[in-house]
Amino acid sequence: MTAREQALAFVEENFENTLEDLISLSKIPSISFPGFDHSTIDQSAERVVELMKDAGLENVQVLKSKNSFPNVYGDHCHKPGKPTLLLYAHHDVQPIGEKDKWQTEPFVPTKKEGPGGMRLYGRGTADDKAGIFVHLAAIKGFLKTAKELPLNIKVLVEGEEEIGSPNLLEFLTEFNDQVQADIMVLTDTANFDCGLPSLTTSLRGMVCLDVEVISSTKKLHNGLYGGLVPDPAMALCKMLGSLTDDKNFVTVPEIVDLLPALDPKLVAEFEKLPFNETEFKEAAGMKASQALLPSEGHPLANLWRRASLVVNGIQASEKSNAGNVINPSAWARLNLRLPPKSDPEKIEAALISYLNKVTPWGLELKIKRESLGSPWETDALGEHKEIFEITRESLKKGYGKEAALTGCGASIPFVEPFALALKGAPALLVGIEDPYTNAHGENESLLISDLKKACLAQVHLFQDLAEKL
Ligand SMILES: [Zn+2]
Repeated sequence: MTAREQALAFVEENFENTLEDLISLSKIPSISFPGFDHSTIDQSAERVVELMKDAGLENVQVLKSKNSFPNVYGDHCHKPGKPTLLLYAHHDVQPIGEKDKWQTEPFVPTKKEGPGGMRLYGRGTADDKAGIFVHLAAIKGFLKTAKELPLNIKVLVEGEEEIGSPNLLEFLTEFNDQVQADIMVLTDTANFDCGLPSLTTSLRGMVCLDVEVISSTKKLHNGLYGGLVPDPAMALCKMLGSLTDDKNFVTVPEIVDLLPALDPKLVAEFEKLPFNETEFKEAAGMKASQALLPSEGHPLANLWRRASLVVNGIQASEKSNAGNVINPSAWARLNLRLPPKSDPEKIEAALISYLNKVTPWGLELKIKRESLGSPWETDALGEHKEIFEITRESLKKGYGKEAALTGCGASIPFVEPFALALKGAPALLVGIEDPYTNAHGENESLLISDLKKACLAQVHLFQDLAEKL
């Protein structure tokens, strides 16, 4: 038997133990949010230390930078000349949400039939404690049989992902030498569907602005003043309405000029995905009779690869307080999601300049940045094409299904610090969540068969990268 076959057989034969270990780790309520008992994060870090040692990793330790929560590190680097992988997952979890809505105890992981087959219900079973075991099961598979790994491996399990990784950049800067690698495998994203392995290759950026239009210092009777005094709420509506066309595409020329064209190769990838409009609308809580916004190319391209403008909040007066008045001011929060390859600072400047230009009637305009985030993309079809092809091939071997290239319309805070700390290293974003996982919500669950497939795919990934790079 080859080392690959031995490792695969070990993963298969020991899968029940892997699941038991996942269950034991998921019993620890390692909620990183403020106001919760953070000794649980220390406990889960200690448990991850034991699990890493048990898998055969070396230099296993809890690592903290000045402000960070306990992260766990371990490595096995005995293959000079072979690539080094940095494998990532996180051991902290979200709060449970509404207790009454859980059908099982959140911290008593429970096996139950559900979408796709047998699932493991419980907080953190999928997000992201299962991610830890995708790495460890494959490592153990090699180290308990062939006694060696086909390449060099470093594992980092973070303890504060769910609060937005506030200290990750500080941590990766302090331990920069230790975490250097040729390729990152970040196991914390979702598959497009149950049993359908997916690689997330892009995240959208964001410009978020608070916009206030002011006309006077006080509320005025609109019978006595309406017709002469400008209404700031009406002014704001006109301004916002002029930002997009009937399809809700942003039409401000200065912004359009800054948006990249859609790559037809990517759209072709999206067209391969089983996008179901009815299910999508259902998940969004929309009525069946309600149409989605029109798209150009493919709906998923709109979701992952186009700018999308939304008004997060708008106010001139409260509903309960809306008398016969002209309000002194009107306020809105604009949230513009931006596709990969766009520059949020330039687009923010263009948006501010446009809003100033279209403010009617000489009204005063105040604009404040709420937040700004860069988009992210890894070039799966370009510079790192070979690595992505190897990864897709190994996912296919593990899952028995062609791997999808997907995007994500939101952002993931840990991606940027890694991109900065490991400049140029390609990032493989994979995961074992699926559309029914309900990560962050009540009744979070993991599809058990997909965990096994992901562990097997990981064995193939290690061996394939070692053989082909
Ligand atoms: Zn996560």
